[in-house]
Amino acid sequence: MFELIRLPYSPDALEPVISARTLSFHHGKHLQAYVDNLNKLLPASGLEELSLEEIVKKATGPLFNNAGQVLNHEMYFQQFRPAAESVEPPTGKLLQQIEKQWRTLDAFKAEFEQKGVGLFGSGWVWLQANAAGELSIAQYAGADNPVAHGLKPLLTFDVWEHAYYLDYQNRRAAHLVALWNITDWSIIEERYYNC
Ligand code: MN
Repeated sequence: MFELIRLPYSPDALEPVISARTLSFHHGKHLQAYVDNLNKLLPASGLEELSLEEIVKKATGPLFNNAGQVLNHEMYFQQFRPAAESVEPPTGKLLQQIEKQWRTLDAFKAEFEQKGVGLFGSGWVWLQANAAGELSIAQYAGADNPVAHGLKPLLTFDVWEHAYYLDYQNRRAAHLVALWNITDWSIIEERYYNC
């Protein structure tokens, strides 16, 4: 049985980037529903002993959709820090690799935002790494993610409308730009180092 993750910050900690109202629906209703559906679908699947990542790699159909969304949202919610805290840019190996591939952090962010804005319909924009540590930015529709493609998931912005519509309505670009203000790069670095 999978359980709804606890948020590592208070419900209003991400305001004004993500309101407490959006967070309560997104975490308490949307993610909870994916967790509940995953738990309903698992028993007959033959995959019930596997880790979430292994389920995502092997499942298809509704089971894949719900397991993928649980994994995506867990990584999404856990990569943020309270808006009141100052944002530290990435450092070390991750920054080196970003600068090697994009020249500047700003150029990287611009491509990430552009791919998030350009994703048609519901999905996720991800920063992912391959086995050699090379980075790429990818658009994934629905519940799809890097794990399903044998890649390491590092950073993700949710571009399903439920992630921003209450606060930003149709202004997806404005929402994505604001997310940098709560992105905790130390967590993204940790994910990269554990590649
Ligand atoms: Mn979502």
